[in-house]
Amino acid sequence: MKYIDEFRNKKLIDKVASEIRRSVEVNRQYNFMEVCGTHTVSIFRFGLKDLLPDNINLISGPGCPVCVTPNEFIDKAIALSARKNMIITTFGDMLKVPGSYSSLEKERARGADVRMVYSGIDALDLAKKNPGKEIVFLGVGFETTAPTVAQSIIAARKNKVKNFSVLCGHKTMPEALKTLTEDPRLNIDGFLLPGHVSVIIGITPYLFLPRRNKRCVVAGFEPLDILQAILMLVKQRTPKVEIQYTRMMNKNGNALARESMKKVFEEYPSVWRGIGAIKKSGLKIRKEFSDFDTDKKFIPKISKPKENRACICGDVIKGVKAPPECKLFGKLCDPEHPVGACMVSSEGTCAAYYKYAGR
Ligand code: SF4
Ligand code: SF4
Repeated sequence: MKYIDEFRNKKLIDKVASEIRRSVEVNRQYNFMEVCGTHTVSIFRFGLKDLLPDNINLISGPGCPVCVTPNEFIDKAIALSARKNMIITTFGDMLKVPGSYSSLEKERARGADVRMVYSGIDALDLAKKNPGKEIVFLGVGFETTAPTVAQSIIAARKNKVKNFSVLCGHKTMPEALKTLTEDPRLNIDGFLLPGHVSVIIGITPYLFLPRRNKRCVVAGFEPLDILQAILMLVKQRTPKVEIQYTRMMNKNGNALARESMKKVFEEYPSVWRGIGAIKKSGLKIRKEFSDFDTDKKFIPKISKPKENRACICGDVIKGVKAPPECKLFGKLCDPEHPVGACMVSSEGTCAAYYKYAGR
């Protein structure tokens, strides 16, 4: 199959759903975590939970880059936005995310120069066009976005652009998965692994998961992709890493993209909202590229970050609680007035529940 329509074909979807129902062992419970925010949104949007037997429980994981970015990062961006001649550039979803005391959107309304861009390269172009300004790009996202941000830094060096830097908040997936498998509150049998991340990293970094008795399938994002991947998970007798998303990836990933990431970034213990610091789960800019590292160039000073105590985003991100368990859900917190990151991001679990779960 080559076209999106085929992956939304009702007949095929029903066929795979009934094969899943036939294949499950009736006396056991299956807990599968979909790691990626786009999977969560598709599962809700297409009502996939209704097609599954009751003993398959899908748990939403920490796969939205906006949601896992901690307040400290947003606070730093806001502190920088108050400086003279500074333009903060970011992906759209980051604008509304509340930090400890404000959001970039609110600061923009108060006069800060905060602009939405689609990539680090767009931010670099802005730097070239505005030599009298400092352009800071907020680098967030997993292995999917990190290579292109690395390329923008390499291009800035090559073109001698001095007024461009990246506030680096990139994270990587495998160590976070390791941490989730160690949480006794989560009894995960298998993972629907993120398609886009895996296009870059391939399957090697996941091979520790079957050794921990976790079944794994890398899945695409359409309803049929997700159901096929669930069927593959159900059918695995010995845990292994399989690829459903073969139309987009091979098991080795993209070596060139990984090379540019490695050239610019190095691993470090990064802090995840709700999870805390996870060793080797973040990317920081290497010393050789420190001219383009906002943290080194401007040393942003912030007050101690603070969390909204009523918001349970941390537990939602870990898959320990579902959004309706939050007492603010749908009352004081909705996509127009988000209290936490999980309601802001288009890939956030709270936003997906709010938009689609009531259907
Ligand atoms: S960047 Fe790709 S893999 Fe990561 S959460 Fe978004 S869609 Fe999923
Ligand atoms: S509903 Fe709102 S306040 Fe509650 S966890 Fe989700 S984002 Fe946080």
